[in-house]
Amino acid sequence: MQKVKGTYDVLPQESNQWLFLEKHIHEVMKKHHISYIRTPIFEYYEVFHRHNEASDMVIKETYDFEDRSGRKITLRPEGTAGVIRSIVENKLILPNHILKTYYIGANYRYERPQKGRYREFFQTGIEIIGEKDPILDAELISIAYEMIASLGIKDIVVKINNLGNSDARKQYKEALQLYFEPLKDQLSEDSKHRLYTNPLRILDSKVPSDQALVKQAPILNDYLSETDQSYLNEVMHILSQQQIPFQHDHNLVRGLDYYSHIVFEIQTNIEGFGSQNALGGGGRYDHLVSELGGPEMSGIGFALGLERLLLACNLQGIQFHDDIQYDVAILHMDNHSKKYAYQIYKYLQQHKIEVNFDFSNKAFKTQLKNAIQTRIPFAIIIGEDEVHSNSVQIKDLINQTQVKVNFKDILNYINKR
Ligand code: AMP
Repeated sequence: MQKVKGTYDVLPQESNQWLFLEKHIHEVMKKHHISYIRTPIFEYYEVFHRHNEASDMVIKETYDFEDRSGRKITLRPEGTAGVIRSIVENKLILPNHILKTYYIGANYRYERPQKGRYREFFQTGIEIIGEKDPILDAELISIAYEMIASLGIKDIVVKINNLGNSDARKQYKEALQLYFEPLKDQLSEDSKHRLYTNPLRILDSKVPSDQALVKQAPILNDYLSETDQSYLNEVMHILSQQQIPFQHDHNLVRGLDYYSHIVFEIQTNIEGFGSQNALGGGGRYDHLVSELGGPEMSGIGFALGLERLLLACNLQGIQFHDDIQYDVAILHMDNHSKKYAYQIYKYLQQHKIEVNFDFSNKAFKTQLKNAIQTRIPFAIIIGEDEVHSNSVQIKDLINQTQVKVNFKDILNYINKR
């Protein structure tokens, strides 16, 4: 049997970094008073396939199936829609109230697997609903940035743009179509198709010949209202006050159609990262809440890819200091003393001592060698004599001294040392 294409196992020898990363995420969220939400891994088809969501991801990459009762179900391809569905369904949106919530979980997309791109992958993200204010946009971006930078990851930059309101986008789309139509034959197949479905997506095509044409294309900024231009300027001003490195990228449009107004991506130029250089991204959505049955209320969110965060950490040599530091190893001489040793192990564990107990039946010498190699400072040694006298030998593995201690004094002795 093999794993499904595009998936991966987290094996015991690498799971520590996952636990470390998840802990880091929860800590940053707690610091910012953002509350955790967990929604199902699958939703009704309509949650993701809304009438005006025509992004490639939703059209071509979702895992859709019917359950045994014929209900149409979709595996979650991204976090936002399910979270908004839940917030609306549970009536968490209140007037004059800002709701801040975060998630961590698996997503599923039928994409071509490559470095940094899987069919099952994990994201963490924040959604903030209830106000449209440049300070909130900057706050959200700064938390995303902090989440990455405080891991120690360097060489990151925030790319930011404003997609404007629907009128501006409509005018801009027409301008793009006018510009690209005479050049249609030079466009890649995907971009030719996008010319009529979603011309904005041509702007972030990775095909070099498309990119060459994009250079001369009209710029979205020229179609923005003054209000939208100054909104973006204000967000950028706050980011610079916070010393967050950013660039205004006129061609940043992001994949999902629900984005309107501010969009951003956090990219890295770490060597060896490959072409999938976005650690995460997000933006404002003015109509998603109402599309999912809630009031007309603007929200903003981001999602970071956990695999890419770990890849960045690994490429930059960042260590995860979450390995267990044992206080004491328990070593036994034979099978009979192993049972007594096991009792001591459980006793010390209950009293919050980090104990290493070897469940195998290795020879005493090997157990001792392993304890020294693992740099455990003390060994509790148990043989027939200790079993009969209800005591233990405690050996200081650094100073090579050894004392006999009664069972009732073990804890005291270890705590003192
Ligand atoms: P998106 O939801 O497409 O805006 O992606 C947000 C972030 O999730 C990206 O910047 C990546 O870090 C991560 N991501 C998206 N798709 C994948 C994938 N197929 N495999 C691994 N990570 C992904």
